[in-house]
Amino acid sequence: MVDKMKEIKVAPEKYQLQETRLQEKLDDGTTRCHLCLWRCKLKHGQRGFCQAHVNRNGTLYNLSYGIISAIDVGAIEDKPVKHFRPGTQVMSVGSYGCSFRCDGCHNLEISWGVSALDDLAKGESTSAYATPKELVDAAKRLGVQGIAFTYSEPAVWLEYVIDVSVLAREQGLYTVYVSNSFVTDEALELMAPHVDVLCSDIKSMDDAFYYDICKLATVDNVLASVKKAFDLGMHVETRTNIIPGKNDDVEGYRKIATWIKNNLGEDSPWHITRFFPAYKLSHIPMTPSESLWQAYEIAKEVGLKNVYVYDDKGCDCAESNMPVSKYLTGTEEEIYQIKKCAASCCGDEGIVVKKFEK
Ligand code: SF4
Ligand code: SF4
Repeated sequence: MVDKMKEIKVAPEKYQLQETRLQEKLDDGTTRCHLCLWRCKLKHGQRGFCQAHVNRNGTLYNLSYGIISAIDVGAIEDKPVKHFRPGTQVMSVGSYGCSFRCDGCHNLEISWGVSALDDLAKGESTSAYATPKELVDAAKRLGVQGIAFTYSEPAVWLEYVIDVSVLAREQGLYTVYVSNSFVTDEALELMAPHVDVLCSDIKSMDDAFYYDICKLATVDNVLASVKKAFDLGMHVETRTNIIPGKNDDVEGYRKIATWIKNNLGEDSPWHITRFFPAYKLSHIPMTPSESLWQAYEIAKEVGLKNVYVYDDKGCDCAESNMPVSKYLTGTEEEIYQIKKCAASCCGDEGIVVKKFEK
């Protein structure tokens, strides 16, 4: 039985591990995380695939609660979201860790975030920490109308996403969840009452594509998650980043467009974005305009009414953002001081996990 815990706890003033919001305690101190579809089963000392959750003596904790890797301010249209509060500005924010390992990821240091999360586990991290209130205050100060959780899969720090979203709504701000949709129904049910928009990738209609970036993920998993968010009443928009030789086939475009029309409606926006070479896909050239417009034509043939082509720019990555300290209050020394968990529950062991005890 999943322990949903109390929805909102008082967020700590100082960095400290937070109990994972969706966890199931099994025998022998083993605990299963139900935030994303990895559903990691972890023993004491083990961390999940995302590296952001750790089992300490039979309880799972989120290491990255409030740990901010990047902040940026821009138009909601850049997420990309075009049919929710157009013309407004959002503050985008991300942490560390992801449920996928995409060969063409543009923000590896953030999305995989292994060294940042290792440092947190060792109590040696100097990453920035902001309470939900501090983050919402920053958004108000910057004059934006919404907050977007992005740069990697937000399910891996859902505890913080929900706490921020609740406060944001109280302050009249909307929230956007930018996702790979390898997310459990339980996580969607937990977030849907508080988060306004889901902007989800549909990366491909080919299971082999997903297998390459996540051995467990299937097209059906992802589509079911997008549909679930839609059925729960979230405003949903979808995006496909077209990668030459990987997902640029006409039949694939047709299948995605048809699925959107049949499941989200003919008015549901589909965003078609250009791939730019990165990481293991550095040898693949950027997507030619013809491929983007071919997908557009097919979507129109299928009957989608709102199809957007981004012929000029790539993904919403965090490579060139300003330092986080530019957006938060406090001196650099305060913001980047060493983060050790403020709780005393782990005793002298601190939060060091087995990996480092060896
Ligand atoms: S959020 Fe992390 S720990 Fe939880 S199931 Fe997903 S990968 Fe595993
Ligand atoms: S491209 Fe997105 S889903 Fe893939 S590893 Fe990077 S952040 Fe995660």
